[in-house]
Amino acid sequence: METTRLAVVSNRLAIVVKKGDDGEWVIKSGSGGLVTALGPVLRDRGGLWIGWLGANVREAMSDGALAELLARGSLETGYTLEPVDLTEEEIQKYYFGFSNEILWALFHDLPSRCNFDPAYWKVYESVNTKFAKAIADNTEEEEDYVWVHDYQLILVADQLKKMGATRHTGFFLHIPFPPLDGFVRLPWRFQILDALLQYDLVGFQTVRDRRNFMDCVRMLVPGTKIVGHGQVIRCLTPTREVLVGTFPISIDFKQFADAAAKKEVEDLAWIIHANLPERQLILGVDRLDYTKGIPHRLHAFANALQRYPEMRRKVTLIQVVVPSRQNVPEYEALKHEIERLVGEINGRFTEVGWTPIHYIYRSLSRVELLAYYRTCEIALVTPLKDGMNLVAKEFCACSIEDNGILILSEFAGAAAQLHHGALLVNPYDIEGVADAIHEAFSMDGETRRTRMKKMRRSIKKNDIFHWVNAYFRAGIAKDLSQFPVAEFFVPKPLSTLSFDEPF
Ligand code: UDP
Repeated sequence: METTRLAVVSNRLAIVVKKGDDGEWVIKSGSGGLVTALGPVLRDRGGLWIGWLGANVREAMSDGALAELLARGSLETGYTLEPVDLTEEEIQKYYFGFSNEILWALFHDLPSRCNFDPAYWKVYESVNTKFAKAIADNTEEEEDYVWVHDYQLILVADQLKKMGATRHTGFFLHIPFPPLDGFVRLPWRFQILDALLQYDLVGFQTVRDRRNFMDCVRMLVPGTKIVGHGQVIRCLTPTREVLVGTFPISIDFKQFADAAAKKEVEDLAWIIHANLPERQLILGVDRLDYTKGIPHRLHAFANALQRYPEMRRKVTLIQVVVPSRQNVPEYEALKHEIERLVGEINGRFTEVGWTPIHYIYRSLSRVELLAYYRTCEIALVTPLKDGMNLVAKEFCACSIEDNGILILSEFAGAAAQLHHGALLVNPYDIEGVADAIHEAFSMDGETRRTRMKKMRRSIKKNDIFHWVNAYFRAGIAKDLSQFPVAEFFVPKPLSTLSFDEPF
């Protein structure tokens, strides 16, 4: 295949357009797993990103002004930005509805949170068609490889075929894939499964997710054969052959490790610890989401303080919650629950000169985030279920003195890779997590270093470039070096783009 250009397709474009303080529209780098992951790859090699611009941008700006802003954004990011417009109804039913109230909840094993509203399905289908049209209009059959991301866009390859556009396509699911007995509750289970099987390659985060998917295919698509073993296997349905692989996503390890060593990060790390002296700092960093298990974690922390009184005054939990899906009642309720719990626990345990939980509800600047990663002795990463969890990997990358301890949920995709070094916990087991906090608190320096070194070695080796290479090799028998850097392109340093916008 002579593919030379990569077209990435995701629900959100890689940038955020918003009004600055002076009323001028500005363009900023988006945040979140996918942008963190693919930004560096596309930045260095040119390419195309197709996605939604976010609410209300199109109405608020003239076409000319938006085009100019996007052209500037393309220069800064290093790749062409192709926006897909969504109406208010589409945002509600495709994004908040089908994607978040159905697929997000179901795929994270929380079916009781699903709202299987039939009206959502039609709009999910039509928005996927819209994305497929944008792909058909902006890519070429032979030259381009179309890499579609995540649960919002499962139907895209199917829709491309229905409109007669032949493309080389791959799909990567960033969130978990549920076990058979969860998946079969989905009223559109056949359509979703069949649509996934229209891609040439389907990638999952972990072996467990892929196994769940294959169980569903075996059960719901009679006559399917599975051939091969290892990272990529072949799935032969009665009508198609599809490659199915596991590709655990990762981070740009070097970029994090180098940035964590910078003086401004070191200075801030020192200030944080100087203000919270003679204690170990425990860090939680999560987007506001019920899958992150924040209330369970707070209960576990309180349980640890109750059962291990020697930890009082000697630990502080810094819990950062990054605003997300604001205005959704369920998320508002979660925020209130977290804030009530923080207040309750602080009210119960605070002593003069010591407050057990420092609660931060905002997104952090990059320097702040790295300083917290670098200075906190313990990271508490306890999602109830998570596709991967990049925070766990970023914490390790920034633990440049090898002295951090990672307490990690066994239900995070990252656990498959980091189980040799992390303290694995079941996030539902309040006493178990409390025991792990105590174990981390009491762990000697040598054991900490041995464990952290193992994790850092593994993440360094299996970094984001490794992830992309593995995916490309499976999808198009190429690797990154075969996507040439565009000759005309002089990348601007990414530091000109801000990091501190909400998701
Ligand atoms: N992050 C961010 N702003 C913050 C704090 C964190 O952009 O204020 C980033 C963090 O660096 C990480 C991502 O958010 O890359 C969270 O990814 P993760 O996989 O842990 O969870 P997700 O939010 O994607 O479910």
